[in-house]
Amino acid sequence: MERTLPGPLTDLLEYLDGIGYRDLYLRPPSEDAKPGAVGAPAGRPASTAMSKAAGPSEIAGSPQIAGTSKIAGSSKTEVSHRPPDRQPTDRRATSPPPAKSVAASFVEVPALLPPEGVPDEIGGRVQILATVARQASTCQACGLCRGRQTVVFGSGHPNADLMLIGEGPGGEEDRRGLPFVGPAGELLNKIIGAIDQSREGVYIANVVKCRPPNNRDPLPDEVAACRAYLEAQIDLVQPKVLVALGRVAAQALLQSTQPLRQLRGAWHEVRGIPTRATYHPAALLRNASWKRPTWEDMKVVRDRLRDLQTP
Ligand code: SF4
Repeated sequence: MERTLPGPLTDLLEYLDGIGYRDLYLRPPSEDAKPGAVGAPAGRPASTAMSKAAGPSEIAGSPQIAGTSKIAGSSKTEVSHRPPDRQPTDRRATSPPPAKSVAASFVEVPALLPPEGVPDEIGGRVQILATVARQASTCQACGLCRGRQTVVFGSGHPNADLMLIGEGPGGEEDRRGLPFVGPAGELLNKIIGAIDQSREGVYIANVVKCRPPNNRDPLPDEVAACRAYLEAQIDLVQPKVLVALGRVAAQALLQSTQPLRQLRGAWHEVRGIPTRATYHPAALLRNASWKRPTWEDMKVVRDRLRDLQTP
């Protein structure tokens, strides 16, 4: 299925052109390039990564790959440069820093190199994902930037088949810079394991990357301001299945106001990817009666992943 090149990625690619991404790409690996770091592969077996890359029709038909191929040295250079169409809309937001100052912070950070043996297509996506993460690390596009300790961009395998999306970082996540740590994260790990996946093999992100004060729900304008990052993550990881964890994530991802009980139990589609909604692990810690329906949801996800892996 051919996807349209999303505005944020178009903007990013244009930006990468402007800062000389080829130099970034050739820099030596740094301490940042360790498993589990944002954008870095986290120990997924090479064969798994290769199998996802082995679909030439998928690669050729995916417009954002035009950009990654370009980064990886391909001659494919058809990249749209249409003007930005998804600017942050937070009324209370501090103005984002001008592009030039953000560019200056980018080039101070050594780029990750794709792991050895990884096809150029995947390596290019890893590179762009890391660059988006660096861009987010200085983001001031909404008011949540004022209370954060860290920007919790996401973690996991950049070529994962399964991507799980929560609502936003809590206190522990804000301190550690990782999504889903602490008791809810431990429960999520068990849920992931129960459907034959591993924490290292999936990709985990949140709808907003900065902690809302007092763990309140993110406001609609904060979700809208951060949506470009989430869309970039989805388009770059290219998971086979998305799972929204909790009402806030489900409503944001599906752009719906329906309650979670109505969003559960059916397949949706987000950016061309089959998407399921279920309870947030933190909610399961408060209400054990939701564990059973969550398991039912996740079994459907497990079966869908199995079907998609069947040759
Ligand atoms: S929540 Fe998202 S849009 Fe808002 S400051 Fe953080 S990274 Fe930027």
